Amino acid sequence: MASERERLHNLFPDLDFDPGALREKYRLERDKRIREDGEDQYIEAASEFAHYAHDDPYADPDFDRDALDVEIDVAVIGAGFSGLMAGARLKDRGITDFRIIESGGDFGGTWYWNRYPGAQCDIESYCYLPLLEETGFMPKDKYSYAPEIFDHSKRVAEYFGLYERALFQTRVTEVRWHEEDNRWHVATHRGDDIRARFVVQATGPANRPKLPGIPGIGDFRGHTFHTARWDYEYTGGDHEGGLTKLADKRVAVIGTGCTAIQSVPFLGEHAEKLHVFQRTPSSVDLRGNMPTDEEWYRNLEPGWQRARRENFASVLFGQNVTEDLVADGWTDIARRIGISLMTRKSDEALDMEEVALRAEIADFEKMNEIRGRVDGTVADGETAEALKPWYRQFCKRPTFNDEYLETFNRDNVELIDVSDSRGVERITEKGVVAGGVEYEVDCIIYATGFEITTSAHRRVDFDTVGRGGRSLYEHWADGFRTLHGLCSHGFPNWFTIGINQNGLSPNMTAMFDDQAMHVAYVIDEVKRRGKQVAEVTAEAEDRWVAEIVSLAGTGATAFLEQCTPGYYNREGKGTQGNMQNSPYAPGINAFNALLREWRERGDMDGMELR
Ligand code: NDP
Repeated sequence: MASERERLHNLFPDLDFDPGALREKYRLERDKRIREDGEDQYIEAASEFAHYAHDDPYADPDFDRDALDVEIDVAVIGAGFSGLMAGARLKDRGITDFRIIESGGDFGGTWYWNRYPGAQCDIESYCYLPLLEETGFMPKDKYSYAPEIFDHSKRVAEYFGLYERALFQTRVTEVRWHEEDNRWHVATHRGDDIRARFVVQATGPANRPKLPGIPGIGDFRGHTFHTARWDYEYTGGDHEGGLTKLADKRVAVIGTGCTAIQSVPFLGEHAEKLHVFQRTPSSVDLRGNMPTDEEWYRNLEPGWQRARRENFASVLFGQNVTEDLVADGWTDIARRIGISLMTRKSDEALDMEEVALRAEIADFEKMNEIRGRVDGTVADGETAEALKPWYRQFCKRPTFNDEYLETFNRDNVELIDVSDSRGVERITEKGVVAGGVEYEVDCIIYATGFEITTSAHRRVDFDTVGRGGRSLYEHWADGFRTLHGLCSHGFPNWFTIGINQNGLSPNMTAMFDDQAMHVAYVIDEVKRRGKQVAEVTAEAEDRWVAEIVSLAGTGATAFLEQCTPGYYNREGKGTQGNMQNSPYAPGINAFNALLREWRERGDMDGMELR
């Protein structure tokens, strides 16, 4: 058998870097960041920190309404894109007796809350914005900014008549199944008693801001907020910038993920002084946004949007396509590195070791380009060095931005590398301590992300109590248990739209749409067949969990274990022992085909109707 050196030479005779040295560098950088406290390093935006999540700077402070006491067909919880799609697809099936309950003051979800300057979706707008053909809307650019996406969510809501069904500024406090009337009783902080035959939980994967448990975080006496609740009262300006009130302010940003990459250029432009506290640098690729070619757009054939979304997913999952329609940073990475190969379990037709090696070399090459981009942009050598990511491309969500790196050439902007201390050391009354130095600031902005992989219960404020008084979160204590990621045994007529145990794609609205169609189908069938209740059987749930686990690629697990910590690998814990929280490995197109076939069979396989 050839040694690895020989194998490398045979496969890549012209390699101009040493893969072994890079592997070692990645390992060292990773180890430096692993923390004993893993996911527990984060604290909930609750109790004394609840305002970081509950304060709504955009809601109508004078809003009030009488408590509702109603009986309805469906309660949809959440008015982001998953709730919107649920509403739209219920309407498509002629189901009209539903309410959409939402804590914010409008539709939009993520795009209602995340109004920080520069907020943009990194997925192509023609794929990401749902129902473009139905609503006749043409996005302005290839990558939409947040206000356009927020407006589109309102457009979809208008189009499907969802406003008259919306209950805004309303937080659900409990969802409880009542056996005697076969109804879910949904309680809210406004005293509502909503009795619904069906519940669709559409609360979103990244709805709940999280905070770093930095010692002293409660001590700071200056101004502070999380990026998901941007305080324009304080900064001045709006999404497009003009943060003029920061002209005499010293600002600290903690975190350098996707959100910081988009907002830091605006802070750098306006703050008197900006300190960016970085634990792990992001991989920052070229954005290259461009205006929509109107003629091209107007001449697209009917059905183009679904075809484009499927083409995007096919490229991401390494399926054969004659053309890469989206042709952007995501598809470039996917084609070169082969995400699909990392998630594949095994394939007898392929030498999997060679496949893995090819993927790794392509990854090194891609990351060398990303690091080269830093050298080519950032003038100060030490700063440039600190901004280079030393991990594989999909250890963290890749970012795309053309102004972020440039920002570090400004005299008023300072990058503070806190990787050696595994994060910011302390917060004091006056500022932020790192490397033993106290940086006095007027404002601390947390760009520290969301409760995405921490406990499912932490992401919502309420419990869901099913048959026999069993909590959903008890049921999921050892990992998700569902059929198709959509419903669970013991929770009749209850559905969720989300990212667990189903076909995952970075183009989330497409996932949500297909799931919503399926949920609307099941609800419609229960009603059409004159039944009261549909519930997943214990056997069907076991089978789906077993299928998720058996398909989950060991390659993906090994890959994530070697990654720098982040929410993708549960802060370095990896997914081992937790394989049942994996997505459906064959990918979103395969998952949608499976759901389609299930519906076409019409036998409601795995569900008991009574
Ligand atoms: P992330 O979770 O990606 O980033 C959090 C940041 O906070 C990381 O840089 C993290 O460092 C840092 N951090 C946490 N604790 C500390 C500490 N104690 N000291 C110093 N730094 C700390 O959050 P984002 O809001 O950036 O992104 C979250 C997700 O939201 C994205 O992954 C994406 O899914 C979504 N999003 C999507 C966008 C889109 O275009 N579609 C745009 C923006 C967000 P470390 O990396 O070392 O843990």
